[in-house]
Amino acid sequence: MSNPAKPNTERLLKQSHNNMPMGVADNYRYWGEDNTVFVKSSKGCTITDADDQTFVDFRLAYGPIILGYRDSRVDQAVIEVITERGTMSGFSTDLDSEVVELVKSMCPNIEKMRFANSGTEAVLGAVRTARGFTGRNKIVVVEGGFHGLYDEMMWKSDVDNWDSQSAQPPEIAAFGVGIPEASREHLETVPLNDFAAIDEVFTRVGHDIAAIIIEPILGNCGSIASTPEYMQTLRSMCDSNGSLLIMDEVKTGFRVAKGGVQELYGIKADLTTYAKAMGNGYAVAAFGGRADVMDIISFNAKGVTHGGTYTANMIALSAAKATLTILNETDAYGTINNAGAAIQQVLSRVFTKHGIAHKFAGPDAMFGIHFGEAVPTNYRDWKETDSALYTEFAMNLIKHGVMLEPDSREPWFICEAHKDVDLAWLEAVADQSMAEAIA
Ligand code: PLP
Repeated sequence: MSNPAKPNTERLLKQSHNNMPMGVADNYRYWGEDNTVFVKSSKGCTITDADDQTFVDFRLAYGPIILGYRDSRVDQAVIEVITERGTMSGFSTDLDSEVVELVKSMCPNIEKMRFANSGTEAVLGAVRTARGFTGRNKIVVVEGGFHGLYDEMMWKSDVDNWDSQSAQPPEIAAFGVGIPEASREHLETVPLNDFAAIDEVFTRVGHDIAAIIIEPILGNCGSIASTPEYMQTLRSMCDSNGSLLIMDEVKTGFRVAKGGVQELYGIKADLTTYAKAMGNGYAVAAFGGRADVMDIISFNAKGVTHGGTYTANMIALSAAKATLTILNETDAYGTINNAGAAIQQVLSRVFTKHGIAHKFAGPDAMFGIHFGEAVPTNYRDWKETDSALYTEFAMNLIKHGVMLEPDSREPWFICEAHKDVDLAWLEAVADQSMAEAIA
């Protein structure tokens, strides 16, 4: 660390190196010795670091914050439950059904649901349920999607090390060591929006395909969207083949609309996973869908096992109940979308002024920025965008008080509290950041 303006950050990182691998609690929080961030506090759409620099935050903890940090309506509900009832008992509570009924009222494709503590756990539950229901093994995943940290989902299309001029597709590589080769055995990988590729997989191994799992808008690849025709094709291929369609709405759920991407597209998944925006920053997740599929979950040799000590604890569910009630009953989505659209306009003006070809992808609540002439249609296309320029621009924004992930695969997340962002200030900062990036 060599930033004299950040003595506290420097001290904390030094201390953390003695205590945690890489000096952080999560690999992705390590941004190098000079740029790793330690946060002291947060409020609304801002975070303040250990050295008292405040940032307008478009990273929002990778998406969970949908109303704003320390939203008093949500926090008050949690304080009430912990002071009056407790945090958890390992038994059922009235909150369980209350939250499921709220979700069902917002997401009509959910008939039955189970809770989890993270997106990873929700995906694991959904995938196991799909396999249990169909009696099949194979899971089809889409390049550029991300579905959590358990072994089977720790395989990726290695676009970073791929020569896009090559006739060969990218390698499928593990996220590091420690991932058994066997965990890849039942995975099939296809590029998004590629009709021939999905057709080929179904022709080759259709009889053993339990499910396709897809982020219908790639929240881990610059919000590149599946086309409605592609989603419709996946739906009908699953139907005619007896496979299930799992939509991973961990990032998009309760963020892009009450009913997630499924509401925007008018498409029904058999199973859906949720997490992030469901609890405005409290750890809560869920998976659910068709009642006949979910009912395979049961406590016998022919049933799917699901549970967990902390599942449906009262902190998580009181936060989910408060968050979902606000999202359901107020015009939060209108506010979020307006803020997102206004911010894109500001950024677009800046890019145009500097002669940078650019495209936005995805919905206003969670948009990607791609420097290039065309919106990428899948992860391989993304490689054609100028992601290096994006990273330079982003690092300059961070220096000047705008927080975001300096990787164009991570979208800009908008929360209700962004309605208060000073757009003139943002424009000036973006202008300066781009000028410095191209100097
Ligand atoms: N699914 C998607 C689409 C995600 O974006 C993520 C995390 O970013 C996960 C699953 C895993 O969620 P978690 O980090 O809560 O385990």
